[in-house]
Amino acid sequence: QEEKNAFWKAADNKLIRYGGSWANVIVERAQGTAMWDSDGNKILDFTSGQMSSLLGHGHPEIVQVVSNYMANLDHIFSAMVTKPNVDLALALSSLLPPGLDRCMFLSTGSETNECALKLAKMYTGGHEVVSLSASYHGMTHGAGAATFSVGRKGYGPQLPGNFVLPVPYAYRSPFRHPDGSYDWKSELDYGWDLIDRQSTGALACVIIEPIISTGGIITLPPGYLKEMKSHCERRGMVLIIDEAQTGMGRTGDMFAFEHEGVIPDILTLSKTLGAGLPLGATICTQEIESVCHEKGFFYYTTHLNDPLVCAVGAKVCEIVVRDNLVGEAKRKGKLLEEGLKNLQKKYPCIGDVRGRGLMMGIEIVLDPITKIPGDELGTSISARCMETGLSCNVVQLKGMGGTFRIAPPLTITDEEISEGIAIMDAAFDWALK
Ligand code: PMP
Repeated sequence: QEEKNAFWKAADNKLIRYGGSWANVIVERAQGTAMWDSDGNKILDFTSGQMSSLLGHGHPEIVQVVSNYMANLDHIFSAMVTKPNVDLALALSSLLPPGLDRCMFLSTGSETNECALKLAKMYTGGHEVVSLSASYHGMTHGAGAATFSVGRKGYGPQLPGNFVLPVPYAYRSPFRHPDGSYDWKSELDYGWDLIDRQSTGALACVIIEPIISTGGIITLPPGYLKEMKSHCERRGMVLIIDEAQTGMGRTGDMFAFEHEGVIPDILTLSKTLGAGLPLGATICTQEIESVCHEKGFFYYTTHLNDPLVCAVGAKVCEIVVRDNLVGEAKRKGKLLEEGLKNLQKKYPCIGDVRGRGLMMGIEIVLDPITKIPGDELGTSISARCMETGLSCNVVQLKGMGGTFRIAPPLTITDEEISEGIAIMDAAFDWALK
C-alpha cells in the first residue's frame, strides 16, 4: 500500500492533468485482450487501449517487427524514404479504391487531420471547415477547431471559419417525428442553410467520422454520407473522412466509408493502423496531391515516414487480410450486439444500443420513454465494471446520456465477449439494486 500511495502522490504532483480523472488502477501488464493491475487482477480490455490495439496487446508478430526494426532500422532523417514506407503505401493502396493512394505517414490522429485540412485548404483555395457538433478530430489548433465535442474553451479564438452541422443523432434529434421516423435530410439541409449564410465564400472541406465515437458512438443514417458528398460537390468542397477509429476492419468493413458507398477525397487513418503504436496516414487522391505539390505544399515532421512504425503498419495490413479480421469483426460484432441487446431487455436504463461491427455503444437513460440522460448512473456502472475486471469507457456530452463505448481488439475470443457481457450484467444489477 505504501508503494501505491507513493505512486499516486508522484502522479498527482508531477503530471499535467488532462482534464478528466485518472482511472483508479495501476496497470502493469497487457497481453491479448487483457491487462493486469499491480495486485495481479485481470481486467478485460473492451476499449483496445485508446481504441487503438486492433490486434490485442503484445501480438507476437508485431513484437517481432518492432524488435527487428528497433535493432536494425528505427528512425532516420525524415527525407529518406525506406522500404517500409513503400510497403505500407502499396499495402494500403491495394485495400483502397483506385486513385485514392497518395500517402503521408505521420504519428497521431491530430497530425493526420492537420495535414488533411491543409491539403484541402491549399487544393480548394478556401479556408472554411465544416464538421459535426459531436465531432472529435484532435487536440491541435487546426484539428481542435474542427472538434466540437470537447476541449474548445480557454485558448482564445479558434481558427476563423470553422462551422458546425448538427450531428445526425437519431436517438435524440429534434427532427424525429412523433411516429419515430427521423428526417435527417431536412436536418442536414437546415444545417447547410445556416452555414451558407455564415460562409464568406471560402468553404474548403467537410471533415467527418463515419461513426462518431467520442461524441457517443453515433452511426450515420443510411444515405447521409452520400448526401454530404453531394453537398460538398455542389460547393466545390473536399470530403475528408476521419477513420482513426473505424479504419482497418473495426466496423466489419475494411474502411467504414465502404458501408456508406462513398469515396472520400482525403482519408485519415491513425489509432488502428499502428495497432497501438503511434502511426497515422493521410491519404489523398492523385489529383489533390499533384495540385498541392504544384502550389508549394510543405508538410514535414520529425517522425514523417518513420521506418519502424511503417513496418508495423504494413504488418497490421497483412494480418488483418490474412486472418480475415474484417469478417471476424462482423461476426463477433453480432455476438456483442446480441449480448448488449439482451442486457437492454433486462435493464430499461439502456435506452439505445448502436454501432457496427466491434464498435458498439449503449446509451444510459433514467427512463426509456423520457430519455433523461443517466450520466451518473453510467459512471457508477463503468466504475463497477473496472473494479470487477472490465475496462470500458463512458462518454458524457451535454444533452446526451452517458454512452458506453465498447471497441475490443478484433482478436477478442467469443468467450471473452461473453465474459465481458457477464461482468456488465453484474455491474448493472449491482447499480440498480
Ligand atoms: N480522430 C478521431 C476520430 C479520434 O477518435 C481521435 C482520437 N480520439 C483523433 C482523431 C485524434 O487522434 P490523436 O489523439 O492520436 O491525435
